[in-house]
Amino acid sequence: MRIDLLSIFPEFFDVLDLSLIGRAQQDGLLEINRIQPRDFTTDRHRTVDSPPAGGGAGMVMKPEPIAQALEHVLDSSAGPGAGEIDRSESGLSESGPSESGPSESGAQERPVLIIPTPSGELFTQRAAEELAHRQHLVFAAGRFEGIDQRVTEWAQEHFEVRPMSIGDYVLNGGEAAVVVMVEAITRLVPGVIGNPESLDEESHAGDGLLEYPVYTKPAQWRGHEIPQVLLSGDHGKIAAWRREQQELRTRKGRPDIWARYVVAQERESR
Ligand code: SAM
Repeated sequence: MRIDLLSIFPEFFDVLDLSLIGRAQQDGLLEINRIQPRDFTTDRHRTVDSPPAGGGAGMVMKPEPIAQALEHVLDSSAGPGAGEIDRSESGLSESGPSESGPSESGAQERPVLIIPTPSGELFTQRAAEELAHRQHLVFAAGRFEGIDQRVTEWAQEHFEVRPMSIGDYVLNGGEAAVVVMVEAITRLVPGVIGNPESLDEESHAGDGLLEYPVYTKPAQWRGHEIPQVLLSGDHGKIAAWRREQQELRTRKGRPDIWARYVVAQERESR
C-alpha cells in the first residue's frame, strides 16, 4: 500500500516510523511519503494561508499549493494519465482521472484522498477495514480554519475524495487525525500485524461489540484476582464467559453500539 501525507508539519508523522508501521515500511509492505505544501509556493515567505473570503476569524489554507502537492502525488504514482493533468487554474484534463493501478478486480482505481475535517463522515472501524483494501491513500491535513473548499471539488476529478472526522471534537490540525487513521488502517493490511487472529476478537471487529476484559499472570495481584473461569482450562466455558462480558461491557459502556447490535441480531433472526 502506498500512502502520501500532505502537511505543513511533515515531521509530525515521524511516529509512523516506529513499531509495527515502521517495520512494515522496512519490509516493503507500506510506502509512506510526506509532502510539504510550502514546497509548491512561489513567494519568499512560502505562504500557504490567507484570510477567509467573506471575513471572519482565522486563516484558510490556500487551494493552489495543496492542488500542486496533489498533482505531484499523481505525477509520481505509476498509473497511466498521471502526466496528463491540465494545470490551468480553471480546468482539468479531458483524459480523465489519474489512476493508481489495478484493483482486485483488475480494473484501474483512483487513489483515495482523505481530507480530515470535523465536518466529515465519521471514521470508524468499518471505514478502516474498507480503506485497508485500497492500494493508494492520500491524506491532506488541514491547519488554521481548514482547506479552501474548492480543493475538495477539484480533487474529485482525480481522486475518490473522502472528507473524514475522527470524532466530535476539534483539533488544532489534521496531522493527529491522519496518524490515527493511518494506524487504524495499516494494522489491517495483511502482514503488518504478526498474528492476524488477534484482529478477529477486538473491539469493533465482526459484530461490533467491545472486547472482553483481558488478564495475564500472576493469578493474584495486589489483592485482585483473575476470574476463576479463565484458569479452568475449559475452552467452552471461557468462550461463553468472554461473550457474556462483551455484551455486558457494550450494553453498559456504549448503548449506541448495543442498540445497533440488537437491531442487527433481530434482523438476522427473521
Ligand atoms: N474550522 C474548522 C471547523 O470548525 O470545522 C476546524 C478547523 S481545525 C482548527 C484545523 C484542522 O484540524 C482541520 O482542517 C482538520 O484538518 C483538523 N481537524 C480538527 N478536528 C478534526 C477532527 N475531529 N477530525 C479530523 N480532522 C480534524
